[in-house]
Amino acid sequence: MTDRPSRDSYHMSTDDFRRHGYEVIDWVADYLDTVTDQPIMPSIEPGAIREMIPTTAPEQPEPFGNILGDLDRVVMPGITHWQSPGWFAYFPANTSPPSILGELVAAGLGVQGMLWSTSPAATEVEEAVADWLVDLLGLPPGWKTTGPGGGVIQMSASDSTHTALVVARERARGSADDMVVYASEQAHSSIEKGARVAGYGHVRLIPVDDRYAMRPDAFEEAVEADIAAGLTPVAVVSAIGTTATTAVDPVRTIGEIARFHGLWHHVDAAYAGTAMVCEEFRHFQDGLELVDSYTFNPHKWMFTNFDCSLFYVADRAPLIESLSILPPYLRNEASASGQVIDYRDWHVPLGRRFRALKLWFVLRSYGAEGIRHHVREHVALARSLADRITAHPMLEPVAPVPFGLVSFRHVGGNDPTRSLAGAINASGWAYVTPSTIDDMAFIRVSIGQTNTTAVEVDRLWNLIEEELSEVAGST
Ligand SMILES: *Cc1c(COP(=O)(O)O)cnc(C)c1O
Repeated sequence: MTDRPSRDSYHMSTDDFRRHGYEVIDWVADYLDTVTDQPIMPSIEPGAIREMIPTTAPEQPEPFGNILGDLDRVVMPGITHWQSPGWFAYFPANTSPPSILGELVAAGLGVQGMLWSTSPAATEVEEAVADWLVDLLGLPPGWKTTGPGGGVIQMSASDSTHTALVVARERARGSADDMVVYASEQAHSSIEKGARVAGYGHVRLIPVDDRYAMRPDAFEEAVEADIAAGLTPVAVVSAIGTTATTAVDPVRTIGEIARFHGLWHHVDAAYAGTAMVCEEFRHFQDGLELVDSYTFNPHKWMFTNFDCSLFYVADRAPLIESLSILPPYLRNEASASGQVIDYRDWHVPLGRRFRALKLWFVLRSYGAEGIRHHVREHVALARSLADRITAHPMLEPVAPVPFGLVSFRHVGGNDPTRSLAGAINASGWAYVTPSTIDDMAFIRVSIGQTNTTAVEVDRLWNLIEEELSEVAGST
């Protein structure tokens, strides 16, 4: 006996797709309407979600209603609510309705935009939004694709930084074992990881000043010591907004030292890059004309859902030289004409999805004005929280507040700081990140979730005050 298919086609009809599509949009809209009321962290044991999922894939097709039902039954109990307005942890990973719709259309079109010719619009919309952002963020005009440079969307800032370090390595002479990458002690772990993956022999983490910014004198000394030791300084990564405290490295001075010694200068503005849509923050990026590459993540604070990381180069020639490989099956007239961008040469993967669409939707739906409005609102909320912290006798800030992150501690030291963070997180509706620098415990409150307003920040402050007075009352 042979297995006969029970029907001719197993595809979902477009009529059913339409029906279920409306249901799914309703489901997501309901989620966004009610996420405020959810405890942010799921309270489940490891393995609990897997236990609800059969160990084998279904042999028979299942009705879509069952699948959608299992979102509520199986998935939701294990979801951490990053879209809750009480989300103050890490940095935000925002989404927004226009972003979700752009993502949906990208999935619907299902194009693979590795080459211009494999879907010209995927490339040209991406070029256009990357160029728009050069103006919107006050980046050097030469970084536009119409100039010598250009921008490309990558999966993450880690990928962008890794790519920059590969190009820097290719441009340098000698053995990678002798090559050195520099970044501050407060730099994101992706710099060390990118350097390791790119094969660098050495990473030097440079000491920081009392505001957690890289000390350029220490950077220059390290470069000179490495040269004297026969090593090859190749690249330096400056941060505009470190992860721990949003410290800003002195980009211009680092750039001057990098130029003098022939180093590639990459800037990591993963989180804070979005703030530059407002002119009043642009002094923090002074010196970008001394930068070779730059990354920032619309998928953090620009209301665009993961993944969407912009990577810019001041000159695209070394990037393309480093990453271009042309097998015969990818040869085509448009590429040979030199008139088009083939983004596959701008990052490690070959294939690429149409990520520019959601960013295009967001930039048009909010307008620059809308993004500025919400960024300014978040930063003002952060400053008002910082003022209340500074004025409170039992609390102290541990770093300046240039953007939307407030870092503070309990004056009593590490133990009361950790219990305060624990108490905030135990509230269920708010979530902060307990962290440490050297041996100092502190609390990070990142204000930037799409829907965070004064309501949540006031509620957080009341919670903090209550906790402090309870602890004071009980001793
Ligand atoms: C978040 C962050 C990163 C990492 O971003 P991914 O896109 O997740 O790789 C890198 N650098 C800084 C400063 C960050 O804040």
